[in-house]
Amino acid sequence: MKRRRISKPIQIGKVTIGGGAPIVVQTMTKTDTRNVMSTIAQIKELEDYDCELVRVAVPDTEAAQAIRAIKRGISLPLIADIHFDYRLALMALEAGADGLRLNPGNIGEPEKVKAVARAAKERDVPIRIGVNAGSLPKATNPRLPIAEQMVEAALKQIQLLESLNFDLIKVSLKAFDVPTTIKAYQDIARKIPYPLHIGITEAGTPRRGVIRSAVGIGTLLYQGIGDTIRVSLTAHPKEEVIAGYEILKSLNLRQHGPVLVSCPSCGRAEVDIVKLAEAVEEELIKINKPIKVAVMGCVVNGPGEAKDADIGIACGKGKAVLFKKGKKIRTIKEKDSLSALMAEVEKF
Ligand code: SF4
Repeated sequence: MKRRRISKPIQIGKVTIGGGAPIVVQTMTKTDTRNVMSTIAQIKELEDYDCELVRVAVPDTEAAQAIRAIKRGISLPLIADIHFDYRLALMALEAGADGLRLNPGNIGEPEKVKAVARAAKERDVPIRIGVNAGSLPKATNPRLPIAEQMVEAALKQIQLLESLNFDLIKVSLKAFDVPTTIKAYQDIARKIPYPLHIGITEAGTPRRGVIRSAVGIGTLLYQGIGDTIRVSLTAHPKEEVIAGYEILKSLNLRQHGPVLVSCPSCGRAEVDIVKLAEAVEEELIKINKPIKVAVMGCVVNGPGEAKDADIGIACGKGKAVLFKKGKKIRTIKEKDSLSALMAEVEKF
């Protein structure tokens, strides 16, 4: 894995992005931002899943003004997502947003971007320049490959902000196409010092979207690129947070709660290992400590195959063996598998 690209850190509320800080997991609410109670409830739920930054859509004045009340009910830093109308960005800043996300393709004239930059600077609020392959500014050269057009669009906006002495910048260049996204981020990573928010846009439903995101985000992270991640899924945002941490854990970039190792099962398994592994996964959601737990389908191969697990279970006919760091600790009845394993996990 390549050494992490060190970017110029920015501060979004209490959270640092870039400059070698841990890679931040963020998501976006899916409630109507104008509905303050349901938005707060969703953000509270995300806090329980250790989400670190949250973004809300700001489609109109009422949504921009709702930020004030939402902020009072949550403890996560909040980013306002603005499209089209720069006045909403000004209102969101007024209402206490900790960060802004603007799509340069649809804000329009430089004068409007300038007005937002001025107001953000007064409050030390960073702006993410969020370029999307699907909504590139009209001025970009259509003959260039999409990845280059995305980079060009971002660079133009960066230059504009820099010309205003504004450098609290974060950048994203998202496409649905994974190779295009990777290429765009690789290019821009060499050209600018700012932190990068990485993700694959409109990645889809969890089954496909998690894979698409993991391939794109994972490839970039492996190359040392990326300071904060957002997994976009057609699902509850907590699924995005869970997937985000799983990507970071797979690359050993962050520790977050337990890691579950489970064998794929095969003809040697004598119990329903799929059912047991799913039940263990569900139980582990409630556990906070970094512990490696293994669920294996047979007593002969299981403990050896998962010997680096802290706690594991290997199932046989009617019984199961509990093991710790590859060493058997005791034999239990198969029906007690879940409760006995979880008791050991709690104790560990
Ligand atoms: S642990 Fe046993 S049941 Fe599971 S895949 Fe390996 S050999 Fe098959």
